[in-house]
Amino acid sequence: MGQENFWADDIVDEIVKTKSAFTLSTGITPSGPIHIGNMREVLTGDIVYRILKERNHIVKFNYVADDNDALRRVYPFLDSSYEAHVGKPLNKVPCPCTKHASYAEHFLTPFFVSLKKLGIEADILRASDLYATARMNKVVLAALKKTDVIKKILNEETGKETNETWSPFLPLCSKCGKNTTTKLTGFSEKDETITYECTCGDSRTVPIAGNGKLTWRIDWPARWSVLGVSIEPFGKDHATEGGSYDTGKRIIKEVFEKEAPFPIVYEWISLKGQGDMSSSKGNVVTIDEMLEVVPSEVLRYMIFKTQPKKAFVFDPGLPIFNLINEYDDGESNKNERAFTLSKLKEIQPVGIPYKHMVTLVQMTNNNFNLIKDILKRTGYTNFHEEGLRSRADYAYNWVRKFAPDEVKFELKTNLPEEAKKLNENQKKILYVFREKFTSTLTGEEIHNLLYSIIQEMNLSPKEGFEAIYLIFLGKTRGPKAGWFLETLGYEFVMKRLSEI
Ligand SMILES: [Zn+2]
Ligand SMILES: [Zn+2]
Repeated sequence: MGQENFWADDIVDEIVKTKSAFTLSTGITPSGPIHIGNMREVLTGDIVYRILKERNHIVKFNYVADDNDALRRVYPFLDSSYEAHVGKPLNKVPCPCTKHASYAEHFLTPFFVSLKKLGIEADILRASDLYATARMNKVVLAALKKTDVIKKILNEETGKETNETWSPFLPLCSKCGKNTTTKLTGFSEKDETITYECTCGDSRTVPIAGNGKLTWRIDWPARWSVLGVSIEPFGKDHATEGGSYDTGKRIIKEVFEKEAPFPIVYEWISLKGQGDMSSSKGNVVTIDEMLEVVPSEVLRYMIFKTQPKKAFVFDPGLPIFNLINEYDDGESNKNERAFTLSKLKEIQPVGIPYKHMVTLVQMTNNNFNLIKDILKRTGYTNFHEEGLRSRADYAYNWVRKFAPDEVKFELKTNLPEEAKKLNENQKKILYVFREKFTSTLTGEEIHNLLYSIIQEMNLSPKEGFEAIYLIFLGKTRGPKAGWFLETLGYEFVMKRLSEI
C-alpha cells in the first residue's frame, strides 16, 4: 500500500467538517432474501461508525427495516397464493415458511443474526413501529399541510407532474389491508386522523398512527427529521440527478426545516457470471449462506478494502479462498487499515495457512482430532484451538458448496484404479523416492527431494508430481506435494508406495 489515505478516513474527515452530531442510518426493504450486495450498506455505515468512535465522537447508528412497504408483485420465489397479498405491507403478508410472524420477519430474522455475527451494533428499528407508535404523526401532518410545496419540489427536481388528487400519504385500508389502492380524501391536525377511500369500496376516518405511511420520497426525509439522521450510506439508484436524495434534500429543508444527512453513495456488488445481485431476480448469495463459508471478519475485510464508489464482482469460488489466505497470512500485502477495522474481538488468529486447512479438511473429512494430530506431527504446535476449529468448518463448508474442481480431492483409502495410468518414468520416480524417503523429512525437504529426482531423470515437474497425485488421489492434480505427503505420514506413504 502506498501513502494514499484510506477511503473511510477521508469520508470521516469530510463529515466532521459539516456535521457536529452523528447519527448514522442504514436500512432495507425486506422484500426478499437479504444478500451480500445489501451488506455493503450496513458495513459502510459500520466502518464510519467505528472511525467516528475512534475519534471520540458520540455516535448513534440505526438500521431501519422498511417493513410496511407493500409487496409489489409475486416474485419468482413465491407461489401464486401471494397474488392476493400484492399491495399489502410486508409486515402484514404471511411468512413463506409459516414459522415467522410475517413475510418481513421471515427475511429479517436471519439477517439480524448475520448482523450480530458481523459485529454490527446498530439499533434495529422497524418503519411499521415508527408509524404505529405515532412518532411519525408530526411529520405526516407537516407533509399533508405542505403538499403543494412537495408537489412543486417533485416537479422541479424530476420534471414529472403529480395529479390533482396526489397525496404524500398512503393510507392503509382497514378492510382489504392494502396501501396501494387507497386515496387520501382529508385529514385533521387536531385529531391526528386521516380520511380515505379505497377501490375495494371502503372509506373511513382513522388515526394516522398505524394506518398508512408516507410515500418513499417523502418518507425518507421525514425519517431523517424524526431520527435526526446526519449520515447515510445509500445505493447509487437514489443518487441519480432528480433521484430521491435530490428531492429528499429539498423536502427536509423546505417542509421539515432541517438539514439533509451527509450522503455516502455505494455501487452494486454483482455475482460472478450473473450480474448485479437482486432479490427479485433470484441471483443472490445471502449473507447467512456466505457466513457459513467465510469468517465474518473476512467478509468485513472484503467490503472495507474496496471504496464504496467502486463496483465489484463477488465470486464465492477461488477468489474467496484467496481472500481468506490473504487475511490469515501475516506476510501478505494486505490493506492494513481495512484489516484493523475488520477485526472482531472474539475471533482469534489461527496460525495455520488457510490453504493447508482446505487440504486438511478434505484429507480427514473434517475430523477435528485427526486435523490436530496431523498439525502437531507436522510442526504446527502454536494454534488457537477454537479458532482452528472454526476455520476448519469454514473450509469444509466452502469445499462442499463453492470450491472449484481443481481444489477438490478425495484421499483414496486404497490404491486407486487410476494408478494404472502411471508410465514407466513415473513409476521410476516413485521407486527412487521410496528408497530416499525418511520419516524425519519436513514438507519442504520432501518437495525438494521429489524435485531433484524429477530433474535427474530429465522429466517435467508436471509429469513427475502427477505420479504422486495419481496414487493417492486418483487424479492428476492436488495440493502442494511435499506438504501433502508429510501430512499423510511416513507409514501411510510407504505402504502406498510399496503397492506400485
Ligand atoms: Zn418464515
Ligand atoms: Zn380496501
